Amino acid sequence: MSFVHLHVHTEYSTDGMSNIMSLFEKVRNLEMPGLAITDHGTLAGVPEFLKTAEEFPTVKPIVGCECWLGDPSRTKTYHLILLAKNLIGYKNLVKLSNIANTEGLYPNDSRPHISAASLAEHCEGLICTSACIGGEIPQLILAGDMAAAKEAAAWYKSIFGDDFYLEVALHRNFGPVKLSEADNRQAYLKSVHELNRLQKKADAGIFEIAQELGIKVIATNDVHFVNREDGVAHDVMRAIQHGKSMSNPKRIRYSHLEYMKTEEEMRRLFPEHPEVIENTMEVLEKVERYSIWGELEVPEICENPKEKLREAVFAGAEERFGEVTDEIWERLDYEINLLCKKGCANYILMIKDLVDWVHSNNWVVGPGRNVSASSMVNYCLGITGVDPVKHELVFERFYNWDKDGVPSIDLDVEPAAQEKVLGYLKEKYGQDCVAEITSFEYLYHGEARRKALKKLGNGEEALEVTSKLETVISGSHIHPCGILVSTKPLTDIIPLSYGVSEYEAKFTDKIGILRLNVLQLRELRILQDIMYSIEREYGILIEPEYLPLDDKDTLDLFARGDTVGVFQFGSEMMREHLRNLKPDHFADLVVLETMTRPGIYHMIPHYIARKHGDESFVCEHDELRETLGLMIYQEQEMKISKHYGCDTFPKAHALCYTLIAYQMAWYKANYPHEFYESLLNGYMGKAWELDAILQDAAAHHVHLIPPDKTESGLFEVVKS
Ligand SMILES: [Zn+2]
Ligand SMILES: [Zn+2]
Repeated sequence: MSFVHLHVHTEYSTDGMSNIMSLFEKVRNLEMPGLAITDHGTLAGVPEFLKTAEEFPTVKPIVGCECWLGDPSRTKTYHLILLAKNLIGYKNLVKLSNIANTEGLYPNDSRPHISAASLAEHCEGLICTSACIGGEIPQLILAGDMAAAKEAAAWYKSIFGDDFYLEVALHRNFGPVKLSEADNRQAYLKSVHELNRLQKKADAGIFEIAQELGIKVIATNDVHFVNREDGVAHDVMRAIQHGKSMSNPKRIRYSHLEYMKTEEEMRRLFPEHPEVIENTMEVLEKVERYSIWGELEVPEICENPKEKLREAVFAGAEERFGEVTDEIWERLDYEINLLCKKGCANYILMIKDLVDWVHSNNWVVGPGRNVSASSMVNYCLGITGVDPVKHELVFERFYNWDKDGVPSIDLDVEPAAQEKVLGYLKEKYGQDCVAEITSFEYLYHGEARRKALKKLGNGEEALEVTSKLETVISGSHIHPCGILVSTKPLTDIIPLSYGVSEYEAKFTDKIGILRLNVLQLRELRILQDIMYSIEREYGILIEPEYLPLDDKDTLDLFARGDTVGVFQFGSEMMREHLRNLKPDHFADLVVLETMTRPGIYHMIPHYIARKHGDESFVCEHDELRETLGLMIYQEQEMKISKHYGCDTFPKAHALCYTLIAYQMAWYKANYPHEFYESLLNGYMGKAWELDAILQDAAAHHVHLIPPDKTESGLFEVVKS
């Protein structure tokens, strides 16, 4: 085959619908040796593109972008295609993208623009093509100014030399085009004829300039969707984006032909110019294979991290335990050695620093998340709040010799702390080394269907379109908890848009940029508020961390399912399980909390029956004694079979979350006034929760004055 598509929009372009995997599959089926990605003004699709390319060894990936060219003094914005030849070119693409996203956002046009000057400065390693009829040269040709068009072409040639190509495209129709039944056929024909008229005029001018200036020409199809039959779905997607009806004659229409054409189809468009097909192969040959992935780099927090870690852990151990037993020394020594030998000391100290900062502001950090509570080092450093020896948590679930990189320590903090954490990290590690991350969104099936039906008003067609739309990126938001912390300025490594990484978290991980996950947990604040209000009312300080785990009133509250408002245990379903189980010690609660996860949910009735002697069982392993012979915890599975699967769940996480629940329940059982008041004020603005809690409070004879009738603007308990 001797043609490759060099102008291709994926679903990462607002007006693109192509799924990257489907593009590669089609290219492989067509036996084309390469494929480019050229989304509008964004590189967001590049990591997925390169990762997918790894599965298609016969297809060489070409990373590029269809940029917007313009500067504030110019009134016009032009399209321009840039393709990276090698890693230098890729890095320049990233650089140009970052310049466009800072200096290139104009008050009258918020799209990221590249200026001619910055293009000239960062042209190394890049191939440039003149783009669609939205490009500068075609636009000048269409305006009838051939002299200016030639001048522009000469300028690009002076910058890119033989790596500058002129582009021709023709969305001409050789067979019947399927339109939506709701579409306006007349309007479609009018717009496609106009498009062809412009393309033909631009192409003629391009061939003339090419000959005169000795510039090679390539053919492209400005691909926006994979297959010809996707044209209707693409058209509906655009109508949805523009909020226009399908029949609206003024709607922006595409030709329905912006799909991945075969080489034969492409050749048929330019029968007089076979070279425009073959020249795409010359471009492909110029492109090298390279990788953008790398090893994880962790910022250095101090000079001797290993020594510092040891010192901090020992100091923490003495504070936690007073007298440190041999067993604990041994465990600490083992953990520290392993973590230091695997190069994790810096990372652990970073997390400790973050936790210390949260505490220094009198904010709360949760007792642990995922498997972080399995480490005695974490406990001694104050990163986690439960003693892993006492609760029989397995360190190897947190980290072991077989793991690469650093263990992931996610933090739960109260909302006020989470809002400020980005600022703190920027201050600590450098403004330009810290950033948030984009997450992409898809339409839910129901939403896609509702929108398709609204546009098409026809069951069958809408059904087909729905199935295509629901798999296409429809928007983006900021990752709720991930923050990148890099050793060097992020703009040198990845594209940022409004200061947020355009690449998704899974790809920044693969590139080797450290990600910290800091999540909000409002219950942490509620617990503090309860503690303070008890202190104000009774003059005693009852810290949640030190509550006895065998309080009879608290366990009774759980056993009668009186857990409305209690973290993780408040749902109707959970209350029913509690009433059946009648838990009489803390460990029962951890088991139940764990079993709410898919994969082990079906074990709940068995655990309950075994607890009450209604089901017999034998414990084949000692490890299963605590769960009455059922394999529930990943820690159990690790001890028994040296690995764990997805049908078990980390006890470490369940234990920490159950602890938060227990603390709330303890306050509810012992200080109901303070409990309800803080809970309601903590859930302010969440109508559904408020209603249920108010009803529950009334059932417990606690009456509250609503916020609009109090001076503080908060819920207040009616004092009897
Ligand atoms: Zn374009
Ligand atoms: Zn395009």
